[in-house]
Amino acid sequence: MPFSARKRTQYIQQLQAEPFDLLVVGGGITGAGIALDAITRGLKVCLIEKSDFASGTSSRSTKLIHGGLRYLKQLEFGIVREVGQERAILYKNAPHIVIPERMLLPIVEGGSLGKYSTSLGLYVYDRLAGVEKEERRNMLSKEATLEKEPLLNTEILKGGGMYVEYRSDDARLTIEVLKSAVERGALCINYVEFSSFLLDANNKINGAVAKDVFTGETIKIAAKKIINACGPWVDDLRKTDNSLKKKRLHLTKGIHIVIKKERLPLKQAVYFDVKDGRMIFAIPRGKKVYIGTTDTNYKDDTNFPFATKQDVQYTLDAANNMFPSANLIMDDVESTWSGLRPLIHEDGKSPSDLSRKDEIFISDSGLISIAGGKLTGFRKMAERSVNVVCKQLKIEEQREFNKCSTEHIKLSGGNLDKSPADYARDLQDDFKQFYVDDVLNLVLKYGSNTQYILAAAQTNFKDDLLLAEAEYCLENEMTNNLSDFIIRRSGRLYFERPTISNTMQLLDDYYNQQLNYTAELISSNHQLFDKEYHDVVAFRN
Ligand SMILES: Cc1cc2nc3c(=O)[nH]c(=O)nc-3n(C[C@H](O)[C@H](O)[C@H](O)COP(=O)(O)OP(=O)(O)OC[C@H]3O[C@@H](n4cnc5c(N)ncnc54)[C@H](O)[C@@H]3O)c2cc1C
Repeated sequence: MPFSARKRTQYIQQLQAEPFDLLVVGGGITGAGIALDAITRGLKVCLIEKSDFASGTSSRSTKLIHGGLRYLKQLEFGIVREVGQERAILYKNAPHIVIPERMLLPIVEGGSLGKYSTSLGLYVYDRLAGVEKEERRNMLSKEATLEKEPLLNTEILKGGGMYVEYRSDDARLTIEVLKSAVERGALCINYVEFSSFLLDANNKINGAVAKDVFTGETIKIAAKKIINACGPWVDDLRKTDNSLKKKRLHLTKGIHIVIKKERLPLKQAVYFDVKDGRMIFAIPRGKKVYIGTTDTNYKDDTNFPFATKQDVQYTLDAANNMFPSANLIMDDVESTWSGLRPLIHEDGKSPSDLSRKDEIFISDSGLISIAGGKLTGFRKMAERSVNVVCKQLKIEEQREFNKCSTEHIKLSGGNLDKSPADYARDLQDDFKQFYVDDVLNLVLKYGSNTQYILAAAQTNFKDDLLLAEAEYCLENEMTNNLSDFIIRRSGRLYFERPTISNTMQLLDDYYNQQLNYTAELISSNHQLFDKEYHDVVAFRN
């Protein structure tokens, strides 16, 4: 099945015409993972997302596929083991967007970890998470630590430890999972908002009413089971279902800032102490470095969280304490993003102490809600949720249906038989008119699908890579407008904000013309873009 924004009307008709085994509400990483798992078990699946795919928390994380080091501190050994295994599986299945990144852990005066506890902690972590031999921890003297990262604060530095995290792109991971589900027959549509449940005579859920956000049209979806994978909005659906009882969500906000690499020319990624006892990351990415995150209680608008001046100052202060020669100031910050963690409330616990464990709630009406968890653990969360569906549909006895097999599925774009850099070099041999760096940039987003973008650029767009990329996303990733492309599909608004202004009009016109939008729809898309753009630079006001 194609995944083209041109076919949206047809998909919406399909959504109403056919009864489904499973409707997934929410197109973040959790919902995407569930759709893929369910379709591969033989269920008839659809997924609706009220805005763009990954527009919630799944485009606003630290973008790491963790091995779970942080859980070691909370003594959550089970999670360390699980996410360590998941990381290895994801690396195998999506090598274009899961890239090993050596991380330096400086040991500092007054820091949360000493030399011996760090060494022991990393040792235990390596074993629990099943870390490959060549990626296991390496402890460093003060001099060796400074060699790795000369910008560290020599006055407080005592030594360091090296371990490996995996860098990713959360929104791209979500879209690759969705594409893999759609390739297998799942029907996934963005800008369709859940409104209410349909109930049978026994008050059991058997469908939902939703709204096409672009047309305002009401849509009725017949589904035997519904999974609520709405991340920070999980409790909204539980309220509609009257099932918001004892357990509820506790939202905490985390922000990141992006600065030019020239202003903080890190040689490598660093996970460092903040004076308040927390730890944050500074991660080089292309010509930029991003730093974060914060962790504060959040009770405001879930749709548009943004970084306040105070959040940005906290992050700058933390960075200046660890890298004092940089003297970073507010004006160095080019863009920010801000996300909400959908954690499960525990009385008396501070934001950073709340468990990141996921949990499934099943209501009297049959609504299955999944909350908590991490980007990294999405596959196992999906497996657990779909197990519940199979059990309820009583198909667990039919063995060929109910086994989870996503461990063995290469995600869309993941068919690289070599490193992304080698793959890009090989591809450029066939398309010599393009620079290898530009090809690599595409490979790190679209993986083995990059070949289609290059071929289209050559044949239809007079070698214009940007338009060929925009078209690929429209036709294959249900990209409807400038916001979808520039924020979630390509990450340009976060990482290239000062230099993209001259291409925005071109891209906006491209989507509006190709999709034949009415003046009214163009205007509402512009309002959405203005809002999203505002949140990226809001701290300046
Ligand atoms: C600051 C921060 C840093 C993080 N860093 C990491 C990290 O480095 N590594 C890691 O593994 N994890 C990380 N996480 C956690 C991870 O990002 C989240 O656990 C994960 O993205 C949650 O995904 P989700 O699909 O459950 O929620 P979301 O991505 O929020 O998806 C829920 C979706 O439901 C949709 N929705 C809501 N209501 C409706 C409705 N009525 N109808 C239709 N759709 C609806 C929303 O629009 C949204 O797209 C981080 C989280 C934060 C906040």
